[in-house]
This record gives sequence, C-alpha cells and structure tokens, in this order.
Amino acid sequence: MTTPPPRPERCDACGKPDALPTIYRPGGLEYLCPACTSRAALRDSAGAHLHALLWPAVETWAQHWHAAGLKPGDLAALLDLEGGYWHPLGALAREGGAEDAVREMLEPKRD
Ligand SMILES: [Zn+2]
Repeated sequence: MTTPPPRPERCDACGKPDALPTIYRPGGLEYLCPACTSRAALRDSAGAHLHALLWPAVETWAQHWHAAGLKPGDLAALLDLEGGYWHPLGALAREGGAEDAVREMLEPKRD
C-alpha cells in the first residue's frame, strides 16, 4: 500500500494555487508554490551557511568570557542582542534592527 500523492493547495507564502507540502523546515509543515519553495530553500541554505561561519567565532568568544567570569545567561543575553542588532560597532550602537544592518551592509561602499 502506498501513500497517495499530496494534493496541491494554496501557497502559505503568496497564495498561488499550485503549492505542495514542504517539510524540510523545523517546526511544521508549509504549503509552498515552486517560486516560494526556491526562496525558502535559499533562505535556509543562507542560514545554515551563516551558522557554520559564526559558530567557531562565537564558541571561542563564549569560552573566553566564561573563563573571565561571565555566566552562560549573561553571554546568551549578549548573543541575543547581537543577533537582533548586528552592527560593526556592536549591539548597543544601533537603533534599528537586523534588517537595517543588512541593508546598510549591501549598500555600495563610499571612500
Ligand atoms: Zn508562493
């Protein structure tokens, strides 16, 4: 006995009618059209890539400051702040959120 193929539904992201279930994301099932499936896969790949790049640096930072006396909760709070307010000058230097920081990073550099 085989499972019947899923029936297309409306896309959870854009509302187009040709969406199929997408189950590779943690936290649940989404119905996505082909275009939104591609965007979701690219976004997930970018997230995994960012995590792989940052993990060694964050791990070294956490070990250093834990050895200096900060508790894991203190480090976690700083890490949460930095993730939400990423900026080369540090978490406390930015008024806007991470989206503003990314837009600034993507602007052409002026010398
Ligand atoms: Zn869609």
